[in-house]
Amino acid sequence: MRSSNSQFDVIVVGGGPAGIASAVSAAQSGKRVAIADDNPALGGQIWRGETVHSDPAARAWISKLRESSVQLFPGTRVFDQPVPGTLNAETLDGRVAFDYGKLILATGARERFLPFPGWTLQNVMGAGALQALVKAGLPIQGKRVVVAGTGPLLLAVASYLKKHGAIVVAVCEQASRASLAAFAGFAVTGLFADPLRHATIIAHNNVTNRLQDAKTPDEAVPGDTYLEDRRRKSHNGDSVEMFYEPNAVTDGDSIVFFRRADVIVAGNILDLTRYPMIDAKNGGSVEGEIKALNDILNRTNYEHEGEGGTYVVPGHGFLADEHEVVEYRDMVVIVRDRVKGMIAIGATLAQVKAARVTADYDTRYGANTGPWTTEMFVEAVYNSLKPAAKTN
Ligand SMILES: Cc1cc2nc3c(=O)[nH]c(=O)nc-3n(C[C@H](O)[C@H](O)[C@H](O)COP(=O)(O)OP(=O)(O)OC[C@H]3O[C@@H](n4cnc5c(N)ncnc54)[C@H](O)[C@@H]3O)c2cc1C
Repeated sequence: MRSSNSQFDVIVVGGGPAGIASAVSAAQSGKRVAIADDNPALGGQIWRGETVHSDPAARAWISKLRESSVQLFPGTRVFDQPVPGTLNAETLDGRVAFDYGKLILATGARERFLPFPGWTLQNVMGAGALQALVKAGLPIQGKRVVVAGTGPLLLAVASYLKKHGAIVVAVCEQASRASLAAFAGFAVTGLFADPLRHATIIAHNNVTNRLQDAKTPDEAVPGDTYLEDRRRKSHNGDSVEMFYEPNAVTDGDSIVFFRRADVIVAGNILDLTRYPMIDAKNGGSVEGEIKALNDILNRTNYEHEGEGGTYVVPGHGFLADEHEVVEYRDMVVIVRDRVKGMIAIGATLAQVKAARVTADYDTRYGANTGPWTTEMFVEAVYNSLKPAAKTN
């Protein structure tokens, strides 16, 4: 193992865009500057791989760097600062010590990956990690990818994968419609202009009416609406069918079936984190919800004794298959039947609530606090089965 010492006025740790720009500036003032980066090639997260050659900004900065006196130490990971003014780093050949006057840390950001049910399954990986693998040469052409999580990286990753031939069957964003709309205002003028400019929001006409009534910014209001039961479209080499599901959780629900990819996007009709959020005031009903879940099941297929068949993307929660939709549908049917039975013998809402008709499902879907409690669900079921019922 070799060991060497180098002395510089300025050491920059990290050779991404920030590190390159700061090193070039420091060198322009006549200082002896070095960049240490643990990757074999400079460029950091965004400019790694072929992007260094294809992105004009990357090309311009790399050529400024080459023309400068900055010394480059790729494949060099800084791991220790034994005393102020010295850094220890490791390379494939051994250890390097850097003595420095000033230190610039440009070590970038990391993807924050939170565990969720199913995160250890085969082929589940961080969005940024998949992007990094593709940049490093992993073939993605023709592969079906669901990009899920939150934040602007999702759009950048989806757009990048699509450009490299992946079939992006869905981008599932956890953030609310309102915060996405706020982000869209920034995005259309910024980094993500491309994916957003080419995206058309399609929805049932009732969605547009509701969003316009709520004075939602124009860019978040569907630009293409439909009134019929079924809307068809050829998109990305897939046959896409949208089915209107009247009076499910609201009066504007659709399910979207990507036939070639064999994926159904269920929206909030399937919310695996809680009871369905039936918004009776805005046209939701328990009967419509059950019909919508049955409509999903009329289109799913299953893989015997395996994870597979049709994927169903829920509004919230983990990626599902037919089995999870069956369980959810059965739960709603059982609760509906219990409430219906009590209404038939004249029970009031208060009596239905007191009977704890959801007790056996509460540990899985119930909540006593938050925007959608168990009580609210029972009330929505009761009211949608007996709209004129006494509510005390
Ligand atoms: C997985 C991932 C994917 C991303 N994809 C995009 C995208 O597609 N588009 C976009 O605009 N933004 C993306 N980002 C955000 C991205 O971080 C910034 O756009 C941009 O790369 C930030 O530049 P930077 O120079 O600050 O850091 P980075 O580009 O992250 O560069 C930091 C460099 O420092 C190195 N480093 C860190 N610690 C050490 C150490 N101890 N010793 C030596 N070297 C070290 C790293 O290996 C890296 O090469 C992504 C971020 C992540 C985490």
